[in-house]
Amino acid sequence: MSRFWSELTASLVPYVPGEQPKDQRYIKLNTNENPYPPSPKVIEALRHAANADLRLYPDPSCDALRETVASYYGLGKEQIFVGNGSDEILAFAFPAFFTAAKPILFPDVTYTFYPVYAQLYGLSYETVPTDERFVIDPQRYGAHNGGVVLPNPNAPTARLLSIHGIKQILDANSDQVVIIDEAYIDFGGQSAIPLIADYPNLLVVQTLSKSRSLAGLRVGLAMGHPDLIEGLNRIKNSFNSYTLDRLALAGAIASFEDQAYFEETNRKIQATRERTTEALAGIGFEVIESQANFVFATCPRRSAQELFAELKKRGILVRYFNKPRIDQYLRISIGTDEEMDALLDALGQIL
Ligand code: PMP
Repeated sequence: MSRFWSELTASLVPYVPGEQPKDQRYIKLNTNENPYPPSPKVIEALRHAANADLRLYPDPSCDALRETVASYYGLGKEQIFVGNGSDEILAFAFPAFFTAAKPILFPDVTYTFYPVYAQLYGLSYETVPTDERFVIDPQRYGAHNGGVVLPNPNAPTARLLSIHGIKQILDANSDQVVIIDEAYIDFGGQSAIPLIADYPNLLVVQTLSKSRSLAGLRVGLAMGHPDLIEGLNRIKNSFNSYTLDRLALAGAIASFEDQAYFEETNRKIQATRERTTEALAGIGFEVIESQANFVFATCPRRSAQELFAELKKRGILVRYFNKPRIDQYLRISIGTDEEMDALLDALGQIL
């Protein structure tokens, strides 16, 4: 017996999140947070909720938030599930929809949480090759598998798959659940939510952590056929400890009520991304086309690990993955224009 007392614990390779330094001096471009604060209306709603009913338990069915999200997306309340961040929703979805008998498919380069969850729940999985520029070929996600999980845009590559491509995957997998993880969809992609009406096997997962600047509040959403939502509820209720707290519920609702702020900050981030992409290309980087709030870039002149270390010395944190295929790339979150100028200045000194 190992010192962990269980073979599962001993064999697990846990997910390693990006650094969250205590030191505020860093320009933090390593975990795809939004550089802008949440809407002032969210802050107001949080203040109000803090002064109101914190001594009372929150509504375990999160009805008010589910109604808000349902009307925002033109769905029914019974098609909405909410969780403490989309990671928690994925943690429920894996045991709810996948089994050990047939492999779950996901891209070879993707969000590293997926293999961790599969391993945790004893599920089998297979990775599907992307091409040398990380393009996903939907035709490779055919039948004879146990389901599909796909971030769109993909992380950390930032590659977007078209709605046509998603439909191809859904059509080829009508007997399995297809999860589209839309953590970054608001930065220029087209959501698969309208496909829910035609595809009872589609679960769309979103988060308020990125485009709504609420990573610290922990709110995720899942949308799909009521049977899929019921599956998630059964897993959630089996843990009996997870529901959103009163502050998260109030803040999330307020976020959906300030569309103008949401559009304005997203527009700024996309403009900064385009400018940063051009500037990086101008100093010799190859940048993968991005529809997300980050870019994935490689510089043939210097190793990515070295660039990561040099940037860190200069107070700038980006993400480096010491993994096959992507160990020459940096994932750089889009910050404010000033932060990206500081990054470009630093790279100019290093290169
Ligand atoms: N999916 C993807 C693809 C992500 O990159 C992230 C953020 N690391 C998440 C889900 C989880 O986000 P959260 O738990 O903050 O909602």
